[in-house]
Order: sequence, then structure tokens, then C-alpha cells
Amino acid sequence: MIAFQGVSKSYGGSVALHPTELAVKKGEFLSLLGPSGSGKSTILNIIAGAVAPSTGNIALDGRDVSTVPPRARGLGMVFQNYALLPHLNVFDNVAFPLRIRGISKSEIAQRVKNALERVGLVGYENRKPREMSGGQQQRVGIARCIVYSPSVILMDEPLGALDKKLRDQLQGEIKRLHRDLGTTLVYVTHDQEEALNLSDRVCLMNGGRIAQLGTPDELYFEPVSEFVADFVGESNLLEGVVQGDNAVRLTDGTTLQVRSTEGHATGSAVKVLVRPEKISVLGDSDTEGASAANSNLYRGTIGQTSFIGGMTRFELKLSTGAALLVKTISSRAAERAAPGDVLSVRWSARDSVVLKK
Ligand code: ADP
Repeated sequence: MIAFQGVSKSYGGSVALHPTELAVKKGEFLSLLGPSGSGKSTILNIIAGAVAPSTGNIALDGRDVSTVPPRARGLGMVFQNYALLPHLNVFDNVAFPLRIRGISKSEIAQRVKNALERVGLVGYENRKPREMSGGQQQRVGIARCIVYSPSVILMDEPLGALDKKLRDQLQGEIKRLHRDLGTTLVYVTHDQEEALNLSDRVCLMNGGRIAQLGTPDELYFEPVSEFVADFVGESNLLEGVVQGDNAVRLTDGTTLQVRSTEGHATGSAVKVLVRPEKISVLGDSDTEGASAANSNLYRGTIGQTSFIGGMTRFELKLSTGAALLVKTISSRAAERAAPGDVLSVRWSARDSVVLKK
């Protein structure tokens, strides 16, 4: 549906986007995720036609649109600041894109009604934007975008100005809307949870390049680099050297069983990713025989702990000097491990992912 061929953007001597190949499939929900300044908005604005690329071509549905002006591209846009017209009521804001397309009055009435139904705002037609909450204003923004059935919808941090609860709620609504409409949707966010929750695929950006493009599962469980592992979710990254098949010798001298060392030569320096929730705490009676093949057993002293509701995070200082971040389902304070306690943990080789250093 959207294809970038060698698309890049420079401002003077500084590169906002290195030459990029990108293909967004029809009907797909693709998020552009990444830290501030990584090139997310540049990609979105190049698709929209608001920014002209320095090199390369862009095709929409098989048609080269590189020289087509924004309005003629037939895209829908949703902005972080809603961009509603303050002097117009909800009906007229949503009707606006239809009026400029010269659509008849009766069809406008019908289409606006449908769009407002989809975002749960029937009955709000006569309100002015200032008489509505942020969440409601963004629903108007979404209704105004879907009212003319664009084949591609672009959303630029649409929930960035809302508080967490409302963000969660609108995420659910956007997900449902995408499922119902089947429109291709490109969504910019710097919030990795939002990207993982919403998207069919996530395009993670770093320094004007694609760091990884894949399903949320692939980014989380099979990151291709330390940057991806670190940006998506929390991680332990243990330094070591490949020792042979599926084993890595850590700098502390211990040997770790890993999922696979394929693609990494024996003797090469690597980092091993272990997600903190994949580490299980063992009771005293569990430790015998726990160092079975395909699992890793370590013993350490609890450092700082933090209780974050359903989960508890703690640091486990190993006798070798390394520290692990561990995340477990919370128990009540009296039963929770406290700083200074000594305990054993284990994780499976399957949950140890080898990354190039
Ligand atoms: P993101 O959306 O990921 O925060 P952007 O795509 O907005 O990042 O920006 C990528 C890089 O391009 C940044 O370093 C930014 O400073 C630079 N940049 C963006 N727009 C302009 C501009 N109009 N002039 C100069 N530099 C720009």
C-alpha cells in the first residue's frame, strides 16, 4: 500500500532519514516507534506529502506520488493537538473535509452521523471543541479523519496529550476502529507499550534508520540488536564470549546455556538478553537438581526492590559481581523478598537470546 524506495531526508548537512526501504501492507496497522529525533515524524510527513524527500520515490497503492501534493494523496491525518477548528461545532468540524470536496448536504448529514456513531459522540453535534474533554476532542479528530473513508490513515502521537487511563481507553477504541474499517494505518508513537499493543508490525527507528521492522512478538522476543532489546521492554544484557554450541562464557567466568549461537562464531564477543520476567525465583527446596541441562541457575543477594502493584522488581547481586533485574508477580510485603535476602533464581536456555556486541 505504501512503498519507500531509497527515500532519505537531509536538512543542510544533517541527516533526518538515511536512505530507507519500507513497505506497508494493505490494511496493516504499522507503528513508527523510537526515541525523540529518530526520524518517525519525517517518515510520516513524507508519506503525507508535507515534507519532500531529498532522494527516492514513494508509491501509494502502486502509484508514484513523489510529486503529488498532500491533498491529492487521499490520506487521513490525526494530530496530537487535535487541530480542530475552534469556532466550529462538532458537526461542522467533522463535515469540513466533505464540504471542501463538494459533497451534497444530505450525504454529509449521513456520513457525519456514521462517523460520530463510530467514535461514540452522537448527541455532541452542537458542542464547540472547548466544551469537550481532551479525549472527546480527539474522538472528533478521528471522526473528521474517517468521515471521507481515506484508504490510508496517518496518526501522529494522537494520544500524547492524554492521561494514562484515557490513553488506554482510546487505544482500545483505535484498535477496534482499525479492525472494523480495515484501513491501512501508520501510527507514530514514542511509547513502546502503545506500539506493542496496537500494531500488526512495529518499525523501530534509531538515528534516522530502521533498527528493526517486525511483529511486536519479534521485537520483544527476537530483537536483532542491543538497542532494540533495550528500547522494547526491560532487559538484562550479560556480556560474554561464545564458547561453543548454545553456550556463552560470561565475563564472570560462569557458563550460560542459550537458545542458539547460530550466526555467532566461537570466541566472538556477544551480549545475552534475558527478560527480567523470565527469571524465576526458587524456593529452598527447588534448588536441588535445578541446574539441569538447558537452564541457568544463579544465587545472589537482593538489592533495591520496588513494588509496582501487580509486579515487584528487584535487583539481584550475584556473587560474581554482576547484577540482574528480576520481575515477579507481587506477594504481600511479609512474604516478599527484602534487601539483603539471599536467594536462587533460574531461567531457561530458551529465554537467553544472543545478540552481537
Ligand atoms: P521524531 O519524529 O522521531 O522525533 P523527526 O523525524 O521529527 O524525529 O526528526 C528527525 C531529525 O530531523 C531530528 O534530528 C530533527 O531535529 C531533524 N529535523 C526535523 N525537522 C527538521 C527541520 N525542519 N529542519 C531541520 N532539522 C529537522
